[in-house]
Amino acid sequence: MIDYQRICLAHYHEIGLKGHNRSTFEMRLLKNLEALLSDFPVVTVHRIAGRLCVFLREGTDWETAKAVADVMGKVPGVARVSCGFKCPRDLDVMAEVARAAMLEAGDFESFKVAARRNHTDFPTNSMEMNQIVGAALCQAFPEKSVRMKNPDLTVGVEVVQNAAYVYARSLPGIGGLPVGSSGVVACLLSSGIDSPVATWKLARRGAVCIGVHFSGRPQTSDASEYLVDDIARVLERTGCIARVYTVPFGDYQREIALTVPPELRVIMYRRLMFKVAEELAHREGAGALVTGESLGQVASQTLDNIRCTDAAVSLPVFRPLIGTDKLEIIAEAERLGTFEISAQDAPDCCTLFMPRSPETHAKLAVVEEAESALPVDEWVAEIAAAAEVRDYACPAFKRKKKRS
Ligand code: ATP
Ligand code: MG
Repeated sequence: MIDYQRICLAHYHEIGLKGHNRSTFEMRLLKNLEALLSDFPVVTVHRIAGRLCVFLREGTDWETAKAVADVMGKVPGVARVSCGFKCPRDLDVMAEVARAAMLEAGDFESFKVAARRNHTDFPTNSMEMNQIVGAALCQAFPEKSVRMKNPDLTVGVEVVQNAAYVYARSLPGIGGLPVGSSGVVACLLSSGIDSPVATWKLARRGAVCIGVHFSGRPQTSDASEYLVDDIARVLERTGCIARVYTVPFGDYQREIALTVPPELRVIMYRRLMFKVAEELAHREGAGALVTGESLGQVASQTLDNIRCTDAAVSLPVFRPLIGTDKLEIIAEAERLGTFEISAQDAPDCCTLFMPRSPETHAKLAVVEEAESALPVDEWVAEIAAAAEVRDYACPAFKRKKKRS
């Protein structure tokens, strides 16, 4: 086995398109990666020629390097991750290291070499590097074919300043923008399938997410709160969730159920949820609410009802799944790793005091009239004050001092 320092390179796509702000985005991603890789033997993370390079400690084995790459691939902002080595800029050494990297890369039939040099003080140009390293690899792997278009494996050989970076195994990352580059949003997080996926979509666009969960407690058990905590821990691995507010909501639902016409209950619950979430969003400096609604999926998700719930708040409400089918959402939840958690049954406030036939075409004036019988403003202050907070590791989030 060769004895050069292992590296994992994060390639990005959208960040690369940013103009003068590019370095702010790169620095954000660098800080996020440093924090998320803190349990791995990482020496340092540097910007190198339009990528971020994670330098691993001497003696780090292949399995560990792969695990580092797996974590990196799930971090918003990373479009692709490559595993390889840093070595001296000597063509024989580079070819030897490329061979070693290819041996580790898993199954492949075809390959090509993609060489780059960043400084013309290296006498061999990239075409010549391709030919020299390519010829050495053809000799080392006579049974493999060279293919310029869509090869199974692309061997990167890059000369940057006084070193060379050589890699073979690449895996796709999830893309998007680094968390912390798009502000803060408050996500209404149930223990269902949809809202974790909706949260994740905003995280991938660079938002720091604050979860707000409405529990049926004390009218139901706290089972949904444990599921939401499990979901938050999955999201935490990508550094996108800063905290979750848990709001005991059952007693207020009971009051609503006793006061308003049964068909309007669900809209009333939802308007109150939105108002409380907005209050908590203000506390956190969040600029929008996020829900997992999908048009027509359930009674509360018709155009009329969406209009009635939106009218309860002044912050924008983002619904990243509005045009997504349930099966597509399930597939995304499986990729994200929250599906198995959400598939467990737990009563939350959604299952509590449900009317037999909820209104599907609510009229705002009728809803507001019914709501005027309730002390909504007082409730919002009271509910927000009683919300319980749990923090998660989110390197991009600036924590305010806890309120006493
Ligand atoms: P999900 O799978 O996300 O629970 P759903 O299909 O059950 O969605 P609804 O119950 O109508 O749909 O909820 C729509 C959205 O409202 C959810 O995606 C979520 O954003 C929010 N929401 C619903 N219940 C809760 C809750 N208990 N706590 C926080 N947010 C909730
Ligand atoms: Mg739900």
